[in-house]
Amino acid sequence: MHIERIIQGIETSDGDGVRLTRMIGTQLCDMIDPFLMLDRFDNDDPGAYIGGFPDHPHRGFETVTVMLDGRLRHRDSTGGEGVIGPGDVQWMTAGQGIIHSEMPEQIEGRMRGFQLWVNLPAALKMAKPGYQDLTQDTIPTVAHDGLTVRVIAGTYQDAHGPAIARTPIRLLRIDAEPNATITLDPPAGHNAFFCIYEGSVVGEDAAGRNATAEAPSLAVLNGDGPVAVAAGPKGAALFYGEGQPINEPVAKYGPFVMNTQQELIQAVHDYQNGRFVGQAA
Ligand code: MN
Repeated sequence: MHIERIIQGIETSDGDGVRLTRMIGTQLCDMIDPFLMLDRFDNDDPGAYIGGFPDHPHRGFETVTVMLDGRLRHRDSTGGEGVIGPGDVQWMTAGQGIIHSEMPEQIEGRMRGFQLWVNLPAALKMAKPGYQDLTQDTIPTVAHDGLTVRVIAGTYQDAHGPAIARTPIRLLRIDAEPNATITLDPPAGHNAFFCIYEGSVVGEDAAGRNATAEAPSLAVLNGDGPVAVAAGPKGAALFYGEGQPINEPVAKYGPFVMNTQQELIQAVHDYQNGRFVGQAA
């Protein structure tokens, strides 16, 4: 594999005025099947996050929220509630439909992390909603050769991530010391990316030339076989994802991701008529 391209993302806001940078799910990078969207948030100013994400619906996919700094409280229409803090990951299967809020559990300080949307195949889009709270202490860490690798989903060496993923994916957080080499070998046909959020890495592009990804940016990988990148002089921290493409039509409308326009219309109709799980009709 090689670095196909390096993307800066697009600054936008979502929820009640939360400032974020959309790395996947824009005109620069529509999707990396099965990954529909990747938002990166990093704000010291409470004004840029305090509004949070008040009640909103989802249907047809999963959201994975990775916290690096700060605390976020979620509440949902099935009665689920929890707080995720630094190092924690929350995995939500929206499936047939859920309404939830994601609100800061702090009024000052840094709020930093990611939210990744993972698509579900047609057969699982209407699955029962559910949450997996993957607290920091349940996420195994592998340390070797200047790397610290946190395994959220899938495997790395002998470590298995705690996430139960409906779509075959691997998610890692990797911290690299200066000049350390990161080598990954996704299964043939899987798509992969990394989002670098501290430092820099250098790897080869399609022509075999050096390509440098500086934080913050998204590197889209392509090709077959292993990929190796070297951390720069200040080291690197990155969020790595790989997954088996679902290869189905994608119809998106805001918080709903289905296969067809008709299913989107049905989702809006069901939501407006109180048919989501736990929703007051
Ligand atoms: Mn949400």
